[in-house]
Amino acid sequence: MTVRTRVAPSPTGDPHVGTAYVALVNSCFAKKQGGCFVLRVEDTDRARSTRESEEAILESLHWLGLAWDEGPDIGGPHGPYRQSERSASYREHAAQLLAEGHAFKCFCTPERLEEMRVAQRAAHQPPHYDGHCLHLTPREIAEKEAAGIPSVVRLKVPSEGSCIFDDLLRGRIEIEWKTVDMQVLMKSDGFPTYHLANVVDDHAMEITHVIRGEEWISSTPKHLLLYRSFGWTPPAFCHLPLLRNPDRSKLSKRKNPTSILYYRKQGYPAEALLHFLGTLIDARNDDQGLIGRGSSTRERTALLLEHFGEQFELTHISVGGPVFDIPKLRWLCGQWIRRQTPAQFLQLLHEWGYEWPRAIAPEKREHVARVAMERIELLSDFAPLVEFLAEPPDLARQDMALQNLPEEDVRGALESAIENLIPLVGDSWNQAAIGEALKKSAGDAGFKLKDVVRFFYVAVTGKPTSLPLFDGMEILGKEESLRRFELAVEKLH
Ligand code: GLU
Repeated sequence: MTVRTRVAPSPTGDPHVGTAYVALVNSCFAKKQGGCFVLRVEDTDRARSTRESEEAILESLHWLGLAWDEGPDIGGPHGPYRQSERSASYREHAAQLLAEGHAFKCFCTPERLEEMRVAQRAAHQPPHYDGHCLHLTPREIAEKEAAGIPSVVRLKVPSEGSCIFDDLLRGRIEIEWKTVDMQVLMKSDGFPTYHLANVVDDHAMEITHVIRGEEWISSTPKHLLLYRSFGWTPPAFCHLPLLRNPDRSKLSKRKNPTSILYYRKQGYPAEALLHFLGTLIDARNDDQGLIGRGSSTRERTALLLEHFGEQFELTHISVGGPVFDIPKLRWLCGQWIRRQTPAQFLQLLHEWGYEWPRAIAPEKREHVARVAMERIELLSDFAPLVEFLAEPPDLARQDMALQNLPEEDVRGALESAIENLIPLVGDSWNQAAIGEALKKSAGDAGFKLKDVVRFFYVAVTGKPTSLPLFDGMEILGKEESLRRFELAVEKLH
């Protein structure tokens, strides 16, 4: 038997990091077993599904380096891989369930269903269909249909006993049938609900392992009932823990950004986010040795996926609920960035869409990259760090009000810096010589460099910390650096 897994996103919003997490587990499991990983688009919710969302989901998963063996974009032997293109199959299967007595037509109006829900709420009962149309005779059905009353198809559910199934991660799960609702399988618009389409497709696509989020555990009895009604062997089920906020609540966009697009735009490198997702699956993937291998993003994500695939064991997944800890993710991004060569880092910036200010000449960019990559976590930290190289800071007198140092002392140190920097000409305008000159300036003014260096920083960059100052000044050039010291002195007159 070839192992076949799938991820089945619904294209109803931004690509969610949880989808990437589930996709990664499915991809690793299939890889480890020498199987196939399928991507299927579950767009049965006609009101909420959009093509833009589908494209964004596929694009984001690709950006993370994930790939599938069959899917709507690449086809495959079990296509189409978009549920909106498989309607005929769902209609046939619903008709079969009706004909064999596993499902029934329900003509209840939305008003009646609402009344029923209100009454159930008042009686402190969980909402469930009350079986009103369960025993309609063929004649009653025919009459209602002749009168043009719209209907849905609902699943017949046993009223007694329990559904028992094995979960690969959680072991035996038992759910009483009386808690399972008579699920709508086909809506009045002729489209299936998730439950019918999902089961019909998992069977048609020969999925052997359904690995999905734990929010689907309570739906599994309905699915098993469908498999039984059709006479099909069900796949193995595995319900993954939900990603959590640090306070252990379910990861939600009210507390944390959940869209992959957000992380991409903010300059979280794809490989770092993928690595982080890998650590959420199995803490053993925290291996720092993984960082930085591979010369391009594509190669790096491919190597990571290979490694995760080799290591992968379902039993390593903790059921506790992995925490989506953004400070840890940011730290990991910084680690990834620092393990690149400056040339690779420039490539990362370019892929991310960073546009260099024209004032930073191309031949200086590698030097800028080399010093900046030590001080950032995200690619979006880069621009604010280097903007002083393109534009002089807009200094105000109070920017120099630091460390309670009298203004005349600050002025003295800045003037001494100008004096000591002037003799550096040609190649001697380099960070080592600049460092020496500034050290001497501090001494000449009666200070140690560490007492006054923040004023030098402010003069050159506008902020008390920034890129390493001597490198910053080397990159900026002598003329511009001196001009900035002079402007700062002027402010203090
Ligand atoms: N379309 C469902 C979702 O959005 C798929 C659930 C499943 O994997 O069965 O999560």
